Amino acid sequence: MALHIVSHPLVEDVLVSLRDEATPPTEFRRLARRVGLLLAAEATRDLATQPGTVATPLETAPVRRLATRVVAVPVLRAGLGLLDAFLDLVPQAQVGYFGLERNEETAVARRYYEKVPKDLGQAVVFLLDPMLATGGSAAMAVDGLRSLGASRVRLLSVVAAPEGVRHLEQAAPDVEIYTAALDRELNERKYILPGLGDFGDRLYGTQ
Ligand code: URA
Repeated sequence: MALHIVSHPLVEDVLVSLRDEATPPTEFRRLARRVGLLLAAEATRDLATQPGTVATPLETAPVRRLATRVVAVPVLRAGLGLLDAFLDLVPQAQVGYFGLERNEETAVARRYYEKVPKDLGQAVVFLLDPMLATGGSAAMAVDGLRSLGASRVRLLSVVAAPEGVRHLEQAAPDVEIYTAALDRELNERKYILPGLGDFGDRLYGTQ
C-alpha cells in the first residue's frame, strides 16, 4: 500500500490553525477546505487524460481533458468538510455517501447510511475521511466500495495515526492513502495524538 504524506509548505501552514484548539468552527471549515484542495490536487495528479482541441478566440489549441470517471465518497459527517474542495477541483465527480458512526465506548464503527453510485469498476474512488485513527471505519468503507466493484480507491485524510495506516495496510493493501500529517499514536479513547480533536465536532461546533 502506498502512503503519501503530502509535503508542502501550505499544508504545514494550514495544519497550524487546524490543530489549534482556539480555532472556531467557522474558521475550521475554511481551513478544512484549504487542506482539502491541497490533498485533492496531490491525489489526482496521475489521473488519465485524453487529447482534444478547443477553439480559443485566436485559433485552435491542443488540450487534454480528464478521461477518468471520478467518484468522491465522503464518510459522514467529518468527510463533508473535504467535499466542497474536492468538487472545486473535480466538478464532474459523482458523489456517494457513507454514514459511519463510531461507538464512543468501543471506537468500533457502524454503518448507518449508504448511497453510492454503482458499477465502480472503471472509476477512481476518493474516500474522504479526515481522521485515520484505528482504520476501522476506513476499512469498512473500502469494503463497501469493493462490493460495488471499486478496484481503485484512494483515501484522503488530514491526520493519520500509525495504527490506522497499519490496519488499512492489512485490510486493504491496494488502497492509496494521502494524508497531510502522520501523527504519533492513539490515546486510550482512540483519538489521534497530537491530532486536532474530533474533526466533525470542530467543523460543526458540536463539542
Ligand atoms: N476521529 C476524530 O475526529 N479525531 C480523532 O482524533 C480520531 C477519530
